[in-house]
Amino acid sequence: MSRCIYCRSELPGTVPREHVIPQSFGVFKPDLTLSCVCSDCNGYFGSKLEWPMLKESVEGARRLQFGLKGVAGGIGAKYVELRVGAGERWRGARAVARTVKNGVVATEVLPQVGARRGPTEPIEWALEKDLDASFIARYPKGSELIIVGGKTNADRERLVEKLKGVCPTFVPGGVMSPPFSDDGKVMLTIEYQLSRVVARCLCKIGFNYMALICGETFPLSREFDDICEFIRNDVGDDAGRVFEKQKPIIAQEIITGKRGADGHVLTIEGRPADRSLIVQLALFNSIPYKIPMTKQYLGDAFAKGHYFSQETGEMSEMMVEYAGPNFGPSKISW
Ligand SMILES: [Zn+2]
Repeated sequence: MSRCIYCRSELPGTVPREHVIPQSFGVFKPDLTLSCVCSDCNGYFGSKLEWPMLKESVEGARRLQFGLKGVAGGIGAKYVELRVGAGERWRGARAVARTVKNGVVATEVLPQVGARRGPTEPIEWALEKDLDASFIARYPKGSELIIVGGKTNADRERLVEKLKGVCPTFVPGGVMSPPFSDDGKVMLTIEYQLSRVVARCLCKIGFNYMALICGETFPLSREFDDICEFIRNDVGDDAGRVFEKQKPIIAQEIITGKRGADGHVLTIEGRPADRSLIVQLALFNSIPYKIPMTKQYLGDAFAKGHYFSQETGEMSEMMVEYAGPNFGPSKISW
């Protein structure tokens, strides 16, 4: 009798294939799938983890550049929500990046209102739809209100009218010039914070990969209960789950200091000497993460890795040398 590696429910004869890499991040040959995830968990991951990840993460934005059109949770993601990272008065404002054509990504600051009680406070932003009396009630007379975004004057006038509606004392002041460059593009630096839901999705990809490499009953071992609860039931602390690495995963890139590939990189290492079992993951070879699956690993020492090429759509095995204990750098190449 086999059980779901996430909820431990008994599996029926047939279950939907769970993709190790969500299909929205590309389809590869051979197609790496698992048959040890129940349809409830499979459906939950699609709508509650993969969909938010597409919309909120740097990897989601990279995906737009590659023109990937796969769906998650039944809906195709056509844009990614970002925040403006630069400019004292614009920081944190909501923006979107959309694919225009052929993988060209255009960014746009959404029409919204920022508010703060004084110049030393961070600005709180409300989109047009969220602008109501309860938002304004938090800001007494004398607070600073800022309107940004929108493509036309009409956008701005509509916001001014709405603001007067919820805040009768509002008097429009000057107009700020937006952080646009000469070619009309918004200069967005992506403000990157790993959200809890994105961290859970990254852990899920790592956990799936562990099941693929170590076998479909391996993750049922009790030392993985903690990460499993975090992924499936949103239980447990965020701390210690996903670490952003300073160095690339691929050895040649560390040596040459140049990025050489755009595909997904996944590695796994079992290190009984320090009781760790660690997955390294970099989607589109962009941000490399280190994700411990457990801190109580006492099995065999091993190391494996795979590369998923965006160019050819092929998956290939990489050579991964066991790095030994004490978290020394792994030597990975292909
Ligand atoms: Zn399940």
